[in-house]
Amino acid sequence: MRIHEFQAKKLLAEYGVAVPASRVAGTPEEARGAAEELGKPVVVKAQIQSGGRGKGGGVKLAGTPDEAGKAAGEILGMTLVTPQTGPEGKLVRRVLVEEQSQVDRELYLSVLVDNAAGGATIIGSAAGGMDIEEVAATDPDKIVRVSVDPAAGFQPHEGREVAFGIGLDGELLRPAVELIGNIYRCFEEKDASLVEVNPLVVTKSGNLLALDAKLTFDDNALFRHEDIAAMRDPDEEDPLEVEAQELGIGGYVKLDGNIGCVVNGAGLAMATMDTIMLAGGEPANFLDIGTVNDVERVVNAFRILTKDDSVKAVLINIFGGMARVDIIAQGVVDAHKELDVKIPVVVRLDGTNLEEGERILGESGVPVIRAKDLGEAAAKAVEAAG
Ligand code: GDP
Ligand code: MN
Repeated sequence: MRIHEFQAKKLLAEYGVAVPASRVAGTPEEARGAAEELGKPVVVKAQIQSGGRGKGGGVKLAGTPDEAGKAAGEILGMTLVTPQTGPEGKLVRRVLVEEQSQVDRELYLSVLVDNAAGGATIIGSAAGGMDIEEVAATDPDKIVRVSVDPAAGFQPHEGREVAFGIGLDGELLRPAVELIGNIYRCFEEKDASLVEVNPLVVTKSGNLLALDAKLTFDDNALFRHEDIAAMRDPDEEDPLEVEAQELGIGGYVKLDGNIGCVVNGAGLAMATMDTIMLAGGEPANFLDIGTVNDVERVVNAFRILTKDDSVKAVLINIFGGMARVDIIAQGVVDAHKELDVKIPVVVRLDGTNLEEGERILGESGVPVIRAKDLGEAAAKAVEAAG
């Protein structure tokens, strides 16, 4: 789960990271008032959960409260398109009105879950402000990476290595190591998967300040962080994904293709998606109904897929181990009774209680396309989807 910049900065401030004074505003009048309260020139920043806002026109400098109101008027309600939003962009509902900083240097700093290192890695660069992927591609030497052993935790010498690597030496070394330690502590304690400060700036008066902040959290750990979970912004999420979660289907991710999948088990779901691609198709989603013997769960999966207009065929691929094929089959039958299923449904079932499942499907008269194995099912689904 992601949070907004204003939320991320508030959280980082709780960890002792210096951030500029700011206010959130939902209207130009509020933005004007916020600038007046701050009593300084401000930056007006679109609050959407995608980076690259500056390039898309979502970050504007304003010298006076009137200018702040005008800038907010231009940004609020706009559909902001940035390199990270996709072409459809994102509607801006709020702006952050923030005291302008006098920037001397823009740096990059992040802590992220590094699968290859088996722990957390701190990444820094003296080339901040811009796309770190771009720096990595064109100027890899400008990036310093230091992995932290999760058992030992963050060590000051690791902080010093990063600080030196991004040019924070002399007077700035001590505050830099403290800052990196604070960011690491936030990352670890809040079960974040990414804490990114870009740019981290050195101001003209020689202070370190987080000018931007992007935080992503591990969804599987949100149950133990009620404060973070409460920051969820449904407007930033796919409505079908939100609905799936409300229906108890945590393992649903919407994708761009046209073949809806209903599968039990994440590994089987991945294999199913691969096989669809191999057969020349594109999956419309990842959907793991989990190992549950619950007819309603299958019906709910259909509820989601039938609401997705891009789905032109459904592929049900179930290998019953702990899950029972007869329960799934009953779910398919009930879904056809309860919902208006107009699209072709290809079914591949195998495993526990297969015979009973076959009987239920056969006697129901529900018009499903049967397949013996996954390869055949994928080919039939691609054909059915046109
Ligand atoms: P992003 O484009 O979504 O990553 O948004 P940022 O918050 O990183 O802002 C983009 C750029 O605006 C930064 O890299 C800075 O160059 C600039 N910027 C933002 N706030 C200030 C400020 O207070 N003072 C100055 N001089 N520049 C700023
Ligand atoms: Mn940024």
